[in-house]
Amino acid sequence: MDTKISSKPSAAPVVAKTAEHVEAHDENPWHQAMEQLDRAGKAMKLEPFALERLRHPKRILTVSVPVKMDDGSVKVFEGYRIQHNMDRGPAKGGIRYHPQVSLDEVKALSFWMTMKCAVVNLPYGGAKGGIICDPKKMSKGELERMTRRYTAEISIIIGPDKDIPAPDVNTNEQVMAWIMDTYSMTIGYACPGVVTGKPIEIGGSLGRKEATGRGVFYVTRELAARRGFDLRKAPIIIQGFGNVGSNAANIFAEHGCKVVGISDVTGGLYDPKGLDLHDIMLYREKNESVANYGKAEHVPIDKFLELPCDILVPAAMENAITKSNADKIKAKYIIEGANGPTSNDADRILNAKGVILVPDILANAGGVTVSYFEWVQDMQSLFWSEKEINARLQEIIVGAFTEVYDLHEKEKVDMRTAAFMVGLRRLGKAASIRGMYP
Ligand code: GLU
Repeated sequence: MDTKISSKPSAAPVVAKTAEHVEAHDENPWHQAMEQLDRAGKAMKLEPFALERLRHPKRILTVSVPVKMDDGSVKVFEGYRIQHNMDRGPAKGGIRYHPQVSLDEVKALSFWMTMKCAVVNLPYGGAKGGIICDPKKMSKGELERMTRRYTAEISIIIGPDKDIPAPDVNTNEQVMAWIMDTYSMTIGYACPGVVTGKPIEIGGSLGRKEATGRGVFYVTRELAARRGFDLRKAPIIIQGFGNVGSNAANIFAEHGCKVVGISDVTGGLYDPKGLDLHDIMLYREKNESVANYGKAEHVPIDKFLELPCDILVPAAMENAITKSNADKIKAKYIIEGANGPTSNDADRILNAKGVILVPDILANAGGVTVSYFEWVQDMQSLFWSEKEINARLQEIIVGAFTEVYDLHEKEKVDMRTAAFMVGLRRLGKAASIRGMYP
């Protein structure tokens, strides 16, 4: 969606049923998510009542976000905040700014947050928000005004006891600070607990920025221990150089692992001997992309995931691995740093090939786990050391990994189904104990 268009971005156009349409339908994240739910619900004989509840987000808010642009025109963006489930606690989940945001995408992402919080046993339900926009084409002032107006529009449903946003694709600490400030101005006092992923100076937590990447590392290390391979000898490929991909790459390298490939939106870098991540990070600080980095082989984006490696970490967007490339993937292990990077068709192909995949709702749960720590610290106005945060994070992620891996072995199901079963058990119990109102 081009942000230069001043009218409200419309919903996806209705197209004739061509092969492309069928493909797009197969990769609709909400359809994917519901198929995952059905598969796991059936495998564990989840009560139909609980299953039916989870098929419907609790609350969907669509808002118009008018923004005064720098050239004096007014553009109206479309935004969403969806609270999928609140049976186990306040709703929790990030806010995404991207041209491809859609209602079905945000619905799926909110559902995956419900599942994620249940898998790692945080006292939260799931939520997600998003605005259809292209933040890369907007100035800082435009982004601030859009964020503040969006916050005002969704302030009727967010709050530290109700629904707590956080960063996601293309949103960061600064965006969280604007959300915290806007919300606090309307209630008349500072409310750090309304949002997580904030700067440290206003109630953020140490270790939050690195948390998702750190969680990715912890699950990979556990997987190596359970499968009996030496993680330091396993070549790793990481797709995506945002907060998750770059931190995961650094943490793998800090632990002596060999990252042989990384990519951003412009393409990939590959060196079978291991990339010099420190040098690439320095390069990235000065340059927008890795497109002209001179000390590694360049690989086009559509071939990147097919490079030789043992471990593949898709840490970019949904549907990176689909039926069109799943067969060509050489990795033995896939760790989903992104949300929904593997389509269900691809899942089936990878399972048949014997690839072990650690699903998003477990692999990337480190972020929301430290968000939970941040919220707890804000509520108590008592802050923890980074050492304490990382130790607690490790305990939660390793505990959840062990539970999921054991169930995957015991029930002979793939790890995504096993993770769903762990989460659904908690969600099913919460739903039946609470019962139905009225
Ligand atoms: N956006 C992140 C996720 O998808 C973090 C959510 C949060 O911290 O609430 O898990």
